[in-house]
Amino acid sequence: MSRYFCHEYPEVLSVLTSVVDARPGAVLLGETPFHPGGGGQLADRGVLRWSEGGVRGVGGEAAGGELWTLLAAAIAISGAVQSAVDPAFRDLMTQLHTGTHILNALVFQDFRGALVTGAQMNDDGTARMDFDLPDADNNRLRGPLEAGINDVIRQDLPVRYRYVSIDDAAAERGLIRNRSVAPPPDADGLVRVVEIVGLDRQACGGTHLASTGRSRPVRILKIDNKGRHNRRVRIGLATAG
Ligand SMILES: [Zn+2]
Repeated sequence: MSRYFCHEYPEVLSVLTSVVDARPGAVLLGETPFHPGGGGQLADRGVLRWSEGGVRGVGGEAAGGELWTLLAAAIAISGAVQSAVDPAFRDLMTQLHTGTHILNALVFQDFRGALVTGAQMNDDGTARMDFDLPDADNNRLRGPLEAGINDVIRQDLPVRYRYVSIDDAAAERGLIRNRSVAPPPDADGLVRVVEIVGLDRQACGGTHLASTGRSRPVRILKIDNKGRHNRRVRIGLATAG
């Protein structure tokens, strides 16, 4: 496996496949739509069904170029398997992840290349992002930043992918945005670049909306200081209705 199925076919959330290898509590499938998580994104959740039963898929584990699916129980699976990601959970992660890119892009542009020091998306529709941002007024930051994010959502900018060599990625200023977690190159030595067209390009292995307009509005819940060089921004997706 050189690329994740969910990178090649982001809209396909259910696949009929078969077992390649198994160990207690985990299975390696011929194909699987599960994203293993990473870079602050939670691993996909879902269900695996086969002729004799079903089991919840609770995560993924990328190891040795293979993507294993972690199971809620140590159960033996055989034969044909339908591997299906929970669409609501994936959509939540994808919206939050796209939102953090927009936030990240605006901070990067407004604060002369401020880098990300951490990120975490949560299953309650919130996320946080930490920036190396030593000198800013949190209260003055909040309103314009929230307006800026929602303006990008309203513009419905398309999101595109391409693959570049690790050397080219390292040479482009700002492409590796996260100071602590750079995405690993694929087996073929390439790094995946996510572009929000007209706004931002950065290396990332997560899942993202096909265009920014598919996101619910984003609120900035809180901005606070976590150390001299660590500004924590919490965002949340507006609840429906
Ligand atoms: Zn991303």
